[in-house]
Amino acid sequence: MSKKCTKCKESKPKASFHKGKTNPWCRECSKAYSKLHYDENKLAILARQAELKKTSKYKEARRKRSKEAYRASPQKRVRQSAHTALTDLLSGKRKSSWVLKHLGCTVTEWKRHLESQFKPGMNWDNRGVGKEKWCLDHVVPLSSADLQNKDELDRVLNYKNTQPLFQQENSSKGARILPEEEARSFEYKTNLAVEKATFEAEVKAENDIRNVMPDVIIALADKEELFIVEYLEKIDFKNNGFQQAEKKKGKK
Ligand SMILES: [Zn+2]
Repeated sequence: MSKKCTKCKESKPKASFHKGKTNPWCRECSKAYSKLHYDENKLAILARQAELKKTSKYKEARRKRSKEAYRASPQKRVRQSAHTALTDLLSGKRKSSWVLKHLGCTVTEWKRHLESQFKPGMNWDNRGVGKEKWCLDHVVPLSSADLQNKDELDRVLNYKNTQPLFQQENSSKGARILPEEEARSFEYKTNLAVEKATFEAEVKAENDIRNVMPDVIIALADKEELFIVEYLEKIDFKNNGFQQAEKKKGKK
């Protein structure tokens, strides 16, 4: 059984064609075409990526994605929800919450428990993040428990596991047992460091491209932001290369 390639016009055995595909070109012709177009498009795609990453729309999309990833993690979601609920209950912003089921006492009783541990200078007006402020701390940190498990929730969310802690004390408590507020600020700082490293890598890549192909960058700068954002959201350059980009172009 042989098949004629519509590109090189040669008759070749079926094994010389991609299986199950309607591609009328033989493997060799297909490969040559892919290679040619990959090289042609590679720098253009990289340039578009670099340009895109500077746009506010891209940054917004990235923020959204990381937020979604955060929400998708049940452990983090519960921890965040519990923390917000607890501080809202303390401030009176909220009167009821799911955390009350695990607290083991009423909010009034809980506040009395915290008050009994107040150190000189602590009062209900200086709870928060910053110098001279105290924050709600879990002696056994929430992050150390399996927050999907009801018994674990009863254990770590119990009022007896809470204490007021000055910010200065936090650092001495050690990295393993960070109070929630501090932990959040740590997460924030880590994210910032990652963002910074990513940004620097992007700038470097962009400069590399700029040096090689200044005209590509100029041409791309004229394109609409939205197009570039959509374009790059659809293609995963590393995995799929130009093929998806070509497909997209064909649809337009
Ligand atoms: Zn061929």
